[in-house]
Amino acid sequence: MEITRRDFIRSSLLLGGSLLLSPVSLYAVQKKGEAWQPAYEKLEKEGKLAERIKQAYSIFEHCQLCPRRCGVNRLKGERGFCRAPVRPVIFSYHPHFGEEVPITGENGSGTIFFSNCNLRCVFCQNWPIAHEGRGKEVRDEDLADMMLKLQKIGCHNINLVTPTHVMPNILNATRIALKKGLYLPLFYNTSGYERLEILKVLDGIVDIYKPDMKFMDADMAEKYSGGASDYPEVTKKAVIEMHRQVGVLKTDENGFALRGLIIRHLVMPNRVAGTEKFVKWVAENLPKSTYVNIMAQYRVEYKAFEYPEIARGITVQEFLEAMEWAKKYGLINLDSKSVALWNFYSQRR
Ligand code: SF4
Repeated sequence: MEITRRDFIRSSLLLGGSLLLSPVSLYAVQKKGEAWQPAYEKLEKEGKLAERIKQAYSIFEHCQLCPRRCGVNRLKGERGFCRAPVRPVIFSYHPHFGEEVPITGENGSGTIFFSNCNLRCVFCQNWPIAHEGRGKEVRDEDLADMMLKLQKIGCHNINLVTPTHVMPNILNATRIALKKGLYLPLFYNTSGYERLEILKVLDGIVDIYKPDMKFMDADMAEKYSGGASDYPEVTKKAVIEMHRQVGVLKTDENGFALRGLIIRHLVMPNRVAGTEKFVKWVAENLPKSTYVNIMAQYRVEYKAFEYPEIARGITVQEFLEAMEWAKKYGLINLDSKSVALWNFYSQRR
């Protein structure tokens, strides 16, 4: 049966934008009156969280927290590719209203921006934080207090932006905060450049994963993301593992995210990001109802000016073809803001 653009847009809005259109999510995980329990609380009750923190901290001695596998001893002050010290450096923490609708909710996502990064893309949109490491070094106890403050002001989740190189600190801070009353979903907002072995440490701790899938071609990843030619293959395996742990996105009765996977893909100029391969891969390897955010907001930042292929914003046509590919390969749970943008431009063609 032929699916019309109107049908497709409607089904995407119903799935991805349930907060806008329906008071009851199609994927509601929690019935009215049922108590929410974050994954990390369950693990603590099973007596396993402390052991995981110990395991995570031991990785600092010969750092292999990410696929760079630098092997430096961060406990002794050595620094690897990410240039991060052993303590987390925080640029800012605050409610964030620019995330996907089920993440932002009404009161914002409780976002903590970690400085430094293990990927270091030449087009980084947050380069003063990720590349220059601007921010303040804090103790795990301080990080726990930030989580609790974000919870107190009504944020819907703890949004850990660029968490990979500070994962042990995050686990320790989460346990400290849990003992003081933290109950929000833990939201791991990552570049996707994650090792399987490290993700297994996070199994049963993270509630929501949001990996990027930036590139599908090794040569593009190598050129634009610090020589990380293994990025596409590493990220594919990581996303499959994240889905195994948390499944498709599930929300509460208000449409706010509780658990699950969101994949983010930034459309880049001149098809550099491999968008058609990306949507095809998702359609063939994950449920078609996987929440996918195809983003139009690429802008020329940091060193992108030095690379002619990516030294401009994307065109309307480049965004529209990305969304058409998503339709062609049958993805049905696209981010509602992207769908609205697609609809807006489509009507003007
Ligand atoms: S987290 Fe940093 S030091 Fe550790 S392996 Fe990755 S890039 Fe190297």
